[in-house]
Amino acid sequence: MKVLIIGGGIGGLTAALCAHHQGHEVSLFEKTDEFKDVGAGIQIPPNAMKVLGALGLDKMAAQNAFEPVSIEARMGKSGRSIFTIPLGNQAIKRWNAPYLHIHRADYIDVLQTALRECAANAVHHNANAVSYHQDAGSITLNLSDGRSFTGDVLIGADGIKSVMREQMFGRENPIFTGNIAWRMTMPVSELGEYAPNPTACVWMGEGRHGVTYRLRGGKLANFVGVVEQGEWRQDADMPDSWSALGHREEALEDFKDWHPVITKIIQSAATDRLYRWALYDRMPLKSWIDGRAVLLGDAAHPMLPFLAQGAAMAVEDSWVLAQEISRDNRPVHQSLKAYQDNRLDRCNKVQAASRANMTTFHQRTRGRQLLTYGPMWLAGHIAPAIVHKRMDWLYGHDVTHCP
Ligand code: FAD
Repeated sequence: MKVLIIGGGIGGLTAALCAHHQGHEVSLFEKTDEFKDVGAGIQIPPNAMKVLGALGLDKMAAQNAFEPVSIEARMGKSGRSIFTIPLGNQAIKRWNAPYLHIHRADYIDVLQTALRECAANAVHHNANAVSYHQDAGSITLNLSDGRSFTGDVLIGADGIKSVMREQMFGRENPIFTGNIAWRMTMPVSELGEYAPNPTACVWMGEGRHGVTYRLRGGKLANFVGVVEQGEWRQDADMPDSWSALGHREEALEDFKDWHPVITKIIQSAATDRLYRWALYDRMPLKSWIDGRAVLLGDAAHPMLPFLAQGAAMAVEDSWVLAQEISRDNRPVHQSLKAYQDNRLDRCNKVQAASRANMTTFHQRTRGRQLLTYGPMWLAGHIAPAIVHKRMDWLYGHDVTHCP
């Protein structure tokens, strides 16, 4: 089959690799002129690592990544520990794959290098997709420079502002969730005694939270700080580039009185590494398909990053979609429907769980914090197995072994 893909993010690149792995001819169209060194860190949970493993890319990803010893939750100001979920070998034993932290640029590099090695001419840069048309036997993608390409299936992996989604279901702006995310990296050696633990640590507080972890063999510290700044509203004008910069004073004000691990990171980050990103969401769709056109990743189901699963869902989507379009003797629309049936409920559940974490992480009163974090603390101390088990549905899922 000839598979056309719009978007060269984690979703589009993985979709291309999975389709190629199944023996399809792939062409990927990315509007930028190169894959850039963008943003900061990203977590690759075991459910996504299983797909990288099936593609033979897990070792390459691990080479430049960092394997945290645990996931922990702490109070943002005092640093008091709430619970710890051991990772490392325990993650591998329980969920059959490691949990990694990687720089987004390194992740993209692993994927695009692998794609260039197996399909040298698959990637088209400066290829801005604007529309598609289709008939019973094929689908054609149109670019803004007048070129067009015809294939059997068109995958829209063009992110939260997907042009393909707009053509499929009409214009509807993403919803600004009122949350701003700070993202920054800096050498661990610059943080002295305040270097973050070698864990994935969520720091919770009033209307905000932070996440600290390490990258690149543990040498680089990564911080994501999320602050609620307003109501959810439809607003397409907030900055949404992985590389939009913010001011240090604002970040320090947002995390005033927080634990020195957090404030030291903000003080130490290089000015050109202080990214500020508006967090958007969309209401779940009932369908991701229009004939031979299909959505994947953030184009289909953007989500708040409060469960670190947005890219992981795009990776899972990619494997399932490639599997479904490879089954014999089936019309394309049936294969796409099977992909959608397989993925819709899981992605909706993960999206809802990510939203729910906003309430959990951002409790504003002492009473609510006690009611929320108290039972977590208790479970973590008297029955840690329960805390582990609660993550099985997410990290234990293995799309590479589904029938
Ligand atoms: P995108 O990454 O948005 O890629 C879309 C691509 O399409 C881009 O390259 C774009 O240039 C291209 N494109 C767009 N329009 C066109 C067009 N018309 N023509 C051609 N090309 C086009 N997820 C995790 O799994 N773990 C994490 O730890 C995590 N942390 C996060 C932290 C933050 C602060 C945020 C904001 C998100 C986080 N996520 C995380 C979510 C994750 O980043 C996204 O879910 C993921 O990047 C989506 O990938 P995608 O390929 O679907 O879309």
